[in-house]
Amino acid sequence: MDRIMTNRLDRGFYRYQEEFEAAALRVLRSGWYIMGKELESFEEAYAAYTGAKYCVGVGNGLDALYLACRAIGIAAGDEVIVQGNTFIASVMGISMAGGRPVFVEPDEYYMIDTERIEAAITERTKAVMVVHLYGQTAQMRRVHEICKKHNLKLIEDCAQSHGAHWDGQMTGTFGDIGCFSFYPSKNLGAFGDGGAIITDSEEYKDRIRQLRNYGSSVRYYNKEVGVNSRLDEMQAALLSVRLKHMDELTAERKALAAVYDEGITNPLITKPAVREGAEHVYHQYVIRCEKRDTLIGYLKERGIDTIIHYPVPPHLSEAYAYLGIPKGALPITEKYADTVLSIPMYNGMTEEEQARVVEAVNAYTA
Ligand SMILES: *Cc1c(COP(=O)(O)O)cnc(C)c1O
Repeated sequence: MDRIMTNRLDRGFYRYQEEFEAAALRVLRSGWYIMGKELESFEEAYAAYTGAKYCVGVGNGLDALYLACRAIGIAAGDEVIVQGNTFIASVMGISMAGGRPVFVEPDEYYMIDTERIEAAITERTKAVMVVHLYGQTAQMRRVHEICKKHNLKLIEDCAQSHGAHWDGQMTGTFGDIGCFSFYPSKNLGAFGDGGAIITDSEEYKDRIRQLRNYGSSVRYYNKEVGVNSRLDEMQAALLSVRLKHMDELTAERKALAAVYDEGITNPLITKPAVREGAEHVYHQYVIRCEKRDTLIGYLKERGIDTIIHYPVPPHLSEAYAYLGIPKGALPITEKYADTVLSIPMYNGMTEEEQARVVEAVNAYTA
């Protein structure tokens, strides 16, 4: 029996093979590879898809977060509130800009616990960064209210939530800037690195366009120290193909999740819950299990791969030892790191593959 992997990016390619190949050839033959028509048309299409006024393509999701922090004015010593249970890039975006991450515990949906945000605010707090983790949306109206009340900027890390709505509104459009990654495994994935920001602010749009290109908007005239972080023509063209099919791809993920929701009945497993008003686009299907590590081995023996998102919470990673946050400081975050497990979930997953996963998960007895 074939191994079932956690993701199958090849399936995503073959489904629209002809369209992808045509787009790639168009770019190769054009003689123009960076900052051209393909980027412009993708930026326009992605802004329209999200409902934001502007989209600016950048090199990857981390840069989107970092440049967003720069654009809203995060500087040395400024505190940015972020949930403890996120991918480390959210946190690095903050610290690369000079900011200091302040961690808040998640709720039972793995989203930032909005009841705990206000207690984390100090005089140095400049912004809140919300992460729509695993593809579910956080309680954005509440977060927005808190930010308004305390005069804080709001950044959304939408690297896992392409196309997800909260209360009918697309993630990334609630705050000042929404940040996306198009890393190949994301719901809207490129064939290499890619990222973008969306915003309604002309000022932030112009600033990030300048920052992504050495701090210049007129060639060889540099207004500030920027970076080289551009979404190239090839990735933009390929992303434009996939974007056309996003509704279908998102619906497929939801259908796959529904099969797991219904099929997995093992009392040792906690399935993902979706909050009223939230949408879940299932970037990952994340279960929890007290004896997670034996479950991993059990599934592996049955030819099923799994992956942990994420085994080390940022505050306990070596990179952030300098913050001096001890183990035990964020018990919910740490508990999730010890018990969460992502089971296979990808566009193009077959009924047979899913049936095998369901059967194996249900047969686990610890
Ligand atoms: C993938 C991801 C990022 C970083 O994106 P890259 O394109 O890999 O730099 C940031 N935040 C979250 C939550 C992610 O999942």
